[in-house]
Amino acid sequence: MDPLLNLVVDMYGCPNRCLHCWLGHMPNKALPDGTDSYIVDYFRPYFGRIAYYSWMREPDFCNDYRERWLRDIALSVNARPERFELASFWRIARDDGYVPFLKEAGVKKVQLTFFGLRETQDRYVGRKGAFDEVIEATHRLIDGGIIPRWQCFINEENISEIEEVYALYLKIKAEFCPDMEFFVHEGSCDGENRKLYPIRIQKRHIPENLIPVYLGYDGLLEEKDCVKQLLECDHSPEYRLSGDITLNIAGTLDAYLNFTHLSAPWQVGNLKTDDPRVFCRRLAEGDIPALRRAKQVTWKRLARDYGAQDSERAFSLDDYKIFLFNRFLNNNEE
Ligand code: SF4
Repeated sequence: MDPLLNLVVDMYGCPNRCLHCWLGHMPNKALPDGTDSYIVDYFRPYFGRIAYYSWMREPDFCNDYRERWLRDIALSVNARPERFELASFWRIARDDGYVPFLKEAGVKKVQLTFFGLRETQDRYVGRKGAFDEVIEATHRLIDGGIIPRWQCFINEENISEIEEVYALYLKIKAEFCPDMEFFVHEGSCDGENRKLYPIRIQKRHIPENLIPVYLGYDGLLEEKDCVKQLLECDHSPEYRLSGDITLNIAGTLDAYLNFTHLSAPWQVGNLKTDDPRVFCRRLAEGDIPALRRAKQVTWKRLARDYGAQDSERAFSLDDYKIFLFNRFLNNNEE
């Protein structure tokens, strides 16, 4: 089967400015009518299967989200965009028609994000009222027959609050929704979340009662162990383009590989100013600054130059690798 090209376009923006946002913060900008078909047509001669997404940050942030969803489906070529288990809690809390729409669209679960209790949640999301909205959204989903799944980002400053959020989850689950789900994790360390590195959770500080609901706990390492492993590795970073490809496309029509946050080394080109043939050649050949730079370095060197050998911060090895590699890219622009 032809590889699938996922076009993930920031057509409307996001109401939030989360401190952990892995995509990175950018202005909200509504793209002019016709931009969607322009983008699909740009790639049509080169890809037999294209899935079009009109959102990169907040799903369904535009008011005509019903028509928008149908248009995303219609624009896609020999493929269908997925709903995933994502939705806008901003909209769930204020739009009575939205949960019924999600249900009609086949959504069975929706993930909602927590950083702590009211003051902390509002500060991390960047909006007053965010905590109350996620609670409201939880109940509206349950009433509408959709299972909420709470995900919590834990760090050194919110440990006890995440325990309280867990207790609240257990209460709501017992009272209203036995199928409700919960997990906690440290999050990746790219985009805005890199700035939270100083308060990244230390593995030994993860409370015992959260270990059973900690995502990927078995593979979780301390930074010093990641460094130790990588100091033994003479291979270069391998971020290869093979099989299906996903492009994150900003409101400026700058298009990026989706391995990490949107930043210059990961940019393939611009869909307004670059000839589609040139853009698709770069994709086919992996002729992209980050991928070129990857061949010039080894994990051993990255661990030596950028790793903290005494740090107990918690990382999965893959998240740590991209964190190190991005530090290298930032310090070594082409
Ligand atoms: S994490 Fe999601 S909801 Fe938060 S600012 Fe980023 S895109 Fe918006």
